[in-house]
Amino acid sequence: MNETFPSTLIDRFQRQVDYVRLSVTDRCDFRCVYCMAEEMTFVPKPQVLTLEELAQVGTAFSELGVRKIRLTGGEPLIRNNIMSLVQELGRLPELDELVLTSNGSQLQRMAGQLREHGVKRINISLDSLQPRKFRHLTRHGNLDQVICGIDAAIAAGFEGIKINAVILRGRNDDEVLDLVEFARGRAIDLAFIEEMPLGNIVEHDREISFCSSEELRSRIGARYPLEPLGDPTGHAGPARYFGMQDNPSRIGFISPHSENFCHLCNRVRVTAEGRLLLCLGNEHSVDLRAVLRSPDYSLTRLKQAIIAAMDMKPERHHFDNGGEPQIVRFMNMTGG
Ligand code: SAM
Ligand code: SF4
Repeated sequence: MNETFPSTLIDRFQRQVDYVRLSVTDRCDFRCVYCMAEEMTFVPKPQVLTLEELAQVGTAFSELGVRKIRLTGGEPLIRNNIMSLVQELGRLPELDELVLTSNGSQLQRMAGQLREHGVKRINISLDSLQPRKFRHLTRHGNLDQVICGIDAAIAAGFEGIKINAVILRGRNDDEVLDLVEFARGRAIDLAFIEEMPLGNIVEHDREISFCSSEELRSRIGARYPLEPLGDPTGHAGPARYFGMQDNPSRIGFISPHSENFCHLCNRVRVTAEGRLLLCLGNEHSVDLRAVLRSPDYSLTRLKQAIIAAMDMKPERHHFDNGGEPQIVRFMNMTGG
């Protein structure tokens, strides 16, 4: 079957979708308190997309005008043989950027190879600089290992490195300025993310632990005057970035609660099971795995399913930290 496809993906609200986040596994070596429960039931392995299927998904999207793919999870770097997928996606001619989000635990040994195989930029999560607190927040993480991973990423020469921190009142809100110092000391970027109500966690009450971007911005601004930056690179996405006069690090704030950015949304997500999620805060989705595993599978059929899905992308999300989570899936399923 020969079919001509549009060169861009456009949804009903005239937003162009040119960015895909691929969750390559729902599994992780950490259990961060805002992301996972202590005891997690993971998707049975046969239900997770194979690396070959993931490569097909990346290929289909890139041929439909997607310019940026982010590998995420779960922890993408604990997926067996992940480097073969990185290599394959890194070679897609239509793609401008292959990027990755990681907890940093495996970066000491993998940063160099990731860079070599075409990963341009990398986001690394780091919520505390105190070993005991880091362990509590991640339940399993080792701070030294992650800091060595961050330093390995700096040595590998990525075009951009950004630290992501989720700040919870009463747990790590006393470390906001220390995290800023850490980023400044290494001349890398830092983004603070407001906690989102994904998954039914039990360890803290999200309403009480919520720290708004506005509050963090004014606390940091009292120490380092923050100058709002535009987004000349186009990489900022929903983050609002600020610069400091005496240091190249940029400080970003991602505020799904306090600043709605849905009208600018250019992204979709694919879960580890191959569910194409049209919005982080809604359940609208399409089962790409069913297409990939159907007897008459072809790349053409996969592209048709992706194009048809664009009509389902909702106009906006509605997050509310009080009451029941509206979205019961956890962030590791979704691909943060
Ligand atoms: N394991 C990798 C990591 O931690 O960077 C990649 C996946 S993780 C789900 C991606 C990002 O989502 C992390 O920066 C994490 O802090 C963030 N995240 C997880 N659960 C969240 C939640 N409930 N609200 C806001 N951010 C969350
Ligand atoms: Fe794992 Fe990342 Fe979720 Fe933490 S935030 S549990 S590192 S997937």
